[in-house]
Amino acid sequence: MNTTYPYVLQPLPYSYDALSPVLGEDTLHFHHDKHMKAYVDNLNKALEPFDQFHNMPLASLLTKLDELPLSAQTAVRNNGGGVFNHELYFSTLNSPNAGTKPSVALQAAIDRDFGSIHQMFSELRKAALGQFGSGWAYVVTDKAGILSICATPNQDVPDLCKWIPLITVDVWEHAYYLDYQNRRPDYFDAFITLINWEVVSSSYKNRNVLR
Ligand code: MN
Repeated sequence: MNTTYPYVLQPLPYSYDALSPVLGEDTLHFHHDKHMKAYVDNLNKALEPFDQFHNMPLASLLTKLDELPLSAQTAVRNNGGGVFNHELYFSTLNSPNAGTKPSVALQAAIDRDFGSIHQMFSELRKAALGQFGSGWAYVVTDKAGILSICATPNQDVPDLCKWIPLITVDVWEHAYYLDYQNRRPDYFDAFITLINWEVVSSSYKNRNVLR
């Protein structure tokens, strides 16, 4: 992940048809090449006049929005959050046939904190479907490794001082409309087959060194 200004749209870590049939090629082209690119471009535009913030990592910018000039706060919140959320989203997915599994440590934490992976998904589903309008639902960990579920509106991110997001579901309609139209529940149920458990397990293991 490139973490400071100027931000660059990273290519997807898989081909545009890799997530098919859960998410089709057209969705990935629009979502990554158009929507995510716009967040990257608009974040750079918002930060361009403010040299003093050019070396600050994105996660720090998002936790210190009130230190930014007032005129840049909303644009950085929306577009910086957009970059952060989409980097997490795209980097934690893989083909529905990839067959990755949670590490032993992550599976143990899931069982301890939710009872089962089924129960974790049921809580994540409730958060994703319950998010009114556009937003995100997450599985997050704290630095001690305790897992929780949360949701944010718009392109907001969870409190990054406290939480390291491991998995996120984009519930903006642009993430699923071409494949599922208005059927957010169907999108969610298919989406969870795309989770790249190798990447998620590695983020969980490295939660204290990621930032
Ligand atoms: Mn999106």
